[in-house]
Amino acid sequence: MPNTATVYQCPACTGPLRFAGDSGKLECAHCGNDYEPATIQALAADKERAAVAAEEPAWATAAAGSPWSDAEAAGLRVYNCPACGAEIICERSVAATSCAYCGNPAVVPKLLSGQLRPDYVLPFRLEKDAAMQALKAHYKGKKFLPKTFTAQNHMEEIRGVYVPFWLFDCNAEAAYCYRTTRVHSAQTAREIITTTEHYRVTRGGEIAFRRIPVDGSTKMPDAHMDSIEPFDYSDLHEFSTAFLPGYEAEIYDLSAEQSAPRANERIRESVESTVAATVQGYSSCAKEYGRLQLNENEVKYALLPVWMLHTRWQGKSYLFAMNGQTGKLIGDLPVDKRRVCAYFAGIAAPLAAAATAAVLLLGGGF
Ligand SMILES: [Zn+2]
Ligand SMILES: [Zn+2]
Repeated sequence: MPNTATVYQCPACTGPLRFAGDSGKLECAHCGNDYEPATIQALAADKERAAVAAEEPAWATAAAGSPWSDAEAAGLRVYNCPACGAEIICERSVAATSCAYCGNPAVVPKLLSGQLRPDYVLPFRLEKDAAMQALKAHYKGKKFLPKTFTAQNHMEEIRGVYVPFWLFDCNAEAAYCYRTTRVHSAQTAREIITTTEHYRVTRGGEIAFRRIPVDGSTKMPDAHMDSIEPFDYSDLHEFSTAFLPGYEAEIYDLSAEQSAPRANERIRESVESTVAATVQGYSSCAKEYGRLQLNENEVKYALLPVWMLHTRWQGKSYLFAMNGQTGKLIGDLPVDKRRVCAYFAGIAAPLAAAATAAVLLLGGGF
């Protein structure tokens, strides 16, 4: 049966290829050759077309109780690794991953074609080493961090993920009106005269917004994704699967329409603060009304690079996320209370010992 996943192998030795962010090329770990993404894309084009046309594997209609239908019920998908034939089980939203057995990158072109085809991809620039160094630096000096976080083998689980983002363009037409006052006082020999002047201040104009990013995945916490911005769009490429090997790629599960309110909210906040900043030199300022109209809306779909590490500790999930291009990062860290207690017990013990010694000395004086 034709496979719905496809693999990117070295044309010279069939070793697994991986897109290397620092060189911008696909590198073969076996023979050391490297290739331009466009070259590999051209070679893989036929395989991708076949994979897109391939039927869903038989498991889609597998009898209840079979391992495949169980996986399906759990929201997972099963592929056969095109290189070694092993089963690759992953979540339904995963469009690129690596085979756990042979290490070959596997991409599912069907999840990246037609309506699901991204317009752009922003390639990784920072390699895994850089992400691990940043993670270590983030942990450094955090004495009370549970060991689960800092174990070397855990840190090596950091994953490079292409996260689906919607990029919104629009022209914002704004009209705002503020009530303001200016207060001044003058002192005479007998009294202080305070004068309050009232003004109505109006502001209007247009602001163009380009590529306001909103992640289109319910799996990615919005606050984390917002914190690792901005991305440098000058390196945005027309989408090609050749940038994916070696990384995971997620597809969106929130449509552009569902994501638009978040984009609009960000635009509104940005317009309001920009306009309000121009109203200066008053003793007080209150917004009376505001009108904001968004015109010429356009949205594009892009995959943006993020290094991430999920850690579960005491039933809670903690996420470290780093911009795969600029290195900007965010991470939640818990405090292990037992380690805090152990630390203070460690300080308290020598103090108690010193106190005993002092009592003994005093005692010796008698
Ligand atoms: Zn090779
Ligand atoms: Zn394999």
